[in-house]
Amino acid sequence: MTVIVGLEIHCQLDTATKLFCGCSTDYRDDPPNSHVCPVCLGLPGSLPKINKKAVEFALKVAKALNCEVPEESEFARKNYFYPDLDKGYQITQYDKPLAVCGYLDIEGDEGEKRVRITRVHMEEDPGRLVHKGGADRPKYTLVDYNRAGIPLIEIVTEPDLRSPKEARRFLNKLRATLEYLGVFDSEKEGSLRVDANISLAGSERVEVKNITSYKGVEKALTFEVTRQKNAIRRGQKIARETRHFVEARGVTTSSRSKEMEQDYRYFPEPDLRPLRVRNWAEEIEIPELPDARKLRFIKDYGLSPTHAATLTGDWQIAEFYESLPADLRVSTATATWVADTLLGELNYRDMSIRGVPLDHFKELLLIRQAGEITEKAAVEVLRSLLDQIRDTGTCELPRQCIGRLGLFVITAAEEGANDPVTAAAREAIAENPQAVADFCQGKKEALNFLVGQVMRKTRGCAKPGDVNRVLTSLLSGDE
Ligand SMILES: [Zn+2]
Repeated sequence: MTVIVGLEIHCQLDTATKLFCGCSTDYRDDPPNSHVCPVCLGLPGSLPKINKKAVEFALKVAKALNCEVPEESEFARKNYFYPDLDKGYQITQYDKPLAVCGYLDIEGDEGEKRVRITRVHMEEDPGRLVHKGGADRPKYTLVDYNRAGIPLIEIVTEPDLRSPKEARRFLNKLRATLEYLGVFDSEKEGSLRVDANISLAGSERVEVKNITSYKGVEKALTFEVTRQKNAIRRGQKIARETRHFVEARGVTTSSRSKEMEQDYRYFPEPDLRPLRVRNWAEEIEIPELPDARKLRFIKDYGLSPTHAATLTGDWQIAEFYESLPADLRVSTATATWVADTLLGELNYRDMSIRGVPLDHFKELLLIRQAGEITEKAAVEVLRSLLDQIRDTGTCELPRQCIGRLGLFVITAAEEGANDPVTAAAREAIAENPQAVADFCQGKKEALNFLVGQVMRKTRGCAKPGDVNRVLTSLLSGDE
């Protein structure tokens, strides 16, 4: 059964002030209703004034998504009665959106894939409802208008996605693109909300509302695919309905309200003039985007397409990679270390690259490159530093950590002195008479075994070449 998915994505634009007033958007740590004014509270007589920065950001998004910007777009009032809307309507765009007919190329289930973008429009965020005493049957509900009026863009795709995984990859690519543009901060709580339409070929379309995380989109869609397939197998019809995703339980539930039949009585916003920004859109400059950067990484640094894709799939990581010295950037070992080891360890801890002191990891890379620690030790240090950051928010300097763990490479002296490598080699020889005997009978594998023993005793901090040399000289001396 073909799975057909389309997405509607709401992203908060990372401007300093709200869409139609001067209130600060930096509200998350402040008391409720402390970032409000007559405009965003919708008091009688107040007039909205468009935030030019928000339009600029939205136009950058439109350009990055290869959209057409019509000669004129228009704001509209979407009327509905709900306590999160103090005005009784939301200022949004309806039949004349800012931008239309774009696309974003992603890595699809069957190779490169073009996902069509239906439209990109601007609107204001509503306030936030805080339910007290349980989400199912709250005792009472509080309303916080700090969020009311934060600029949003809504990005609507055509139903071009064919699996929950593809939807997740689309969102990852979109997030990367928006962050490259510097218009969106995915780390801010509630900065992204997704509604997903899903149908199995031939059935009615189901809309899953208000998914608030990237993983949530994949989970909600996976749940829907299973639920709908099972229903069809049992001979049931899929009803056209709106469902809500319950993140904590990973399920979607039918919502009682008939939201789809609601009449919003849209009409043009009389307090704002139409936007005529096509010329501005043509002139506006956008930075290098993930695809272009990926090609450049392949070309300039000789990286594999897989490494290049991973390293440019997040703006922060790409910046980190490019901050490394030139000779490190062209090394596959560095690419592997950042793309696989560093990101793998971050993933394992469910940590983001944000809030990680990248200078420390750069230094660790340089220490490893200089041969002061082994590859194995570098990973151990990385793990220790990440654990510290996760548990306490900060971490030691790499050199401190290496010293504390005793992981600096130990070198053997040239001639049979009492260094740690020679000591470990003597121990290994004394403990393994059989291997020594095998070696003396010409079995080369026996030496590899002894090298392994010495490496273990020195916790991987000895250089394999040194260990080989010391062992061979001790063993031939014993003959
Ligand atoms: Zn305001």
